[in-house]
Amino acid sequence: MRVILLGPPGVGKGTQGRRLATERGQALISTGDMLRDAVARQTPLGVQAKKLMDAGSLVPDDVIVGLVRERTLEPDALAGFVLDGFPRTVPQAEALDAMLAERSLKIDAAVLLTAPDEELVRRLSSRWECPECRRVFNTLTAPSKDGRRCDDHPSTELRQRADDTEETVRKRLEVYRNQTAPLVGWYRGQGKLKEVQGTGPLDDVYGALTRAVPD
Ligand code: AMP
Repeated sequence: MRVILLGPPGVGKGTQGRRLATERGQALISTGDMLRDAVARQTPLGVQAKKLMDAGSLVPDDVIVGLVRERTLEPDALAGFVLDGFPRTVPQAEALDAMLAERSLKIDAAVLLTAPDEELVRRLSSRWECPECRRVFNTLTAPSKDGRRCDDHPSTELRQRADDTEETVRKRLEVYRNQTAPLVGWYRGQGKLKEVQGTGPLDDVYGALTRAVPD
């Protein structure tokens, strides 16, 4: 299955997508994580992307589409994949459809996760991630066992993302509304849109997600 997780920053795409992909033996493709890796390695792409990411703006479509084209050809993605953070614009969605069509493949479903803005801002400002494996913890709702280090990498200190400051979060929400939200209509028009409420206990959200996209 090839599934897109849609929704604003902080709604749980990464957390839920990681679990869905792991339990189904599929690849989790997170363009945000790919870019953060490039930033950490200080590659030319990373240097270019960092400024945009820190400002809460989007990286150019052609750059991201190129990354996803390569990533979806890797062996672990052949059985299917869960996309987190891509597509984020209508041109990206068009490019995705075209690249999959070249391979006689298609997207099976786009799941829109929803939560109120104030909840998103609250969650993002208490979000901490492991720089080693990118697992996300939340000091309010899902803290790590000792509160400071990753459960899977006990010697690694968790850190906050540079773009999780309140000002940048509000900018990212605006970018989401202007550039990404039109994708909801795009996938609804294709008959592929499913809606899942992203609030409440993580297990309940996950249950609703798996019901929305049966294996
Ligand atoms: P995320 O981890 O999905 O919240 O992404 C973090 C940042 O990476 C975004 O605010 C953008 O600057 C950039 N980014 C991630 N995915 C995309 C994409 N599909 N298109 C453009 N920029 C992206």
